[in-house]
Amino acid sequence: MARLVMKFGGTSVASIKHMENVAAKVRTEKLAGNEVVVVVSAMGDETDRLVSLAEEAQVPEVDTRRELDVLLSTGEQVSIALVAMVLSRSGLPAKSFTGAQVAIKTDGVHNRSRILEIDAERLEADLGKGIVPVVAGFQGVNESSDITTLGRGGSDTTAVALAARLKADECRIYTDVEGVFTTDPRIVETARCLERITFEEMLELASLGSKVLHTRAVELASKFHVPLRVLSSFNDSTGTLITREENITMEAPLISGIAFTKNEAKLTLLGVPDLPGIASTILGPISAANIEVDMIVQNVSADRSTDFTFTLSRQDYDQAAVILEAIAASMGAREVTGDTSIAKLSIVGVGMRSHAGVASKMFEVLAAESINIQMISTSEIAISVVIDEKYLELAARALHSEFDLAEPFA
Ligand code: ASP
Ligand code: MG
Repeated sequence: MARLVMKFGGTSVASIKHMENVAAKVRTEKLAGNEVVVVVSAMGDETDRLVSLAEEAQVPEVDTRRELDVLLSTGEQVSIALVAMVLSRSGLPAKSFTGAQVAIKTDGVHNRSRILEIDAERLEADLGKGIVPVVAGFQGVNESSDITTLGRGGSDTTAVALAARLKADECRIYTDVEGVFTTDPRIVETARCLERITFEEMLELASLGSKVLHTRAVELASKFHVPLRVLSSFNDSTGTLITREENITMEAPLISGIAFTKNEAKLTLLGVPDLPGIASTILGPISAANIEVDMIVQNVSADRSTDFTFTLSRQDYDQAAVILEAIAASMGAREVTGDTSIAKLSIVGVGMRSHAGVASKMFEVLAAESINIQMISTSEIAISVVIDEKYLELAARALHSEFDLAEPFA
């Protein structure tokens, strides 16, 4: 007997018909003798609908974050009740639980709370009686018994936290894609659904632009060693298992995936005096304006002046450029230049730890396509380059093919 947490996202519970499909999946596991806890999101785009109602009702001067949580949590309250009804009518005893009812205790930060603890007693008691608990994702309660929510997409995190607390054998995230792909199948036709990937790789891919899973959920699963599976609720394929590196029995492939983000821009300050404190003088006001900076490159100086470049999200470009012009004037830098048509592309794989030459192979592949690399950054298991946005698809296809990602690793 295994204990499973099965989480179904908004598209998987979009209607009563969809919920019947959820019931069929739960039944299969119950018939196999497994214990099941179900976690659900709000139906379809319900959370978006509630958010736009709130926008209509709010004014920026009045802090209504507490009320927003009360409102948003209703989406999941509707789906737990309906899913429990559909499960019960198909002969599977089930019981709905809000976050407060299973005592999902969070910190006090409204709209993006963190889970502190879960009291599993009620769930254990029901599981012992063969009942399927259906738990609302995304919500909890704080110290003062106020409803809190975990931030958009937070149901994945609820599911992983429950799986960790209940010592489940697997946490399954049922969604509208097959699993984690080697790269975006809309860009590279030969992209393949991965059978397994490590937590580390998944975290890199997620932070580099792959959107399958809530990053916090992957972090939590990694911390508590919860095997995490992403799979489709619309077919019977086994999806992708995200697991610890030791559990990838075969030797890891060189790289596992390619991630990219198109929505990038870069800013350069030319002729900056090469003095202590310069980086913080430049980036301090940028971060004070709540603008997130990604890659940062500062060159060696030949004549006691240097060039300083960083990348950021395209939507922050105009605001950052204005701030930078002021900084440039105050420190006597030569010029500010920028580019809003760049993209970042990264290759990710734990295999590159034990193999030299992955970076040079990547650069060779790009050179063969005459793609100019503007910036490079690396981590232990990823190499990222900034290139002209118009070559992104070409680069992704060439790398996918040269690193043999279309072929299952044997
Ligand atoms: N319903 C919430 C949202 O749409 C939580 C979730 O789906 O994970 O963000
Ligand atoms: Mg959702």
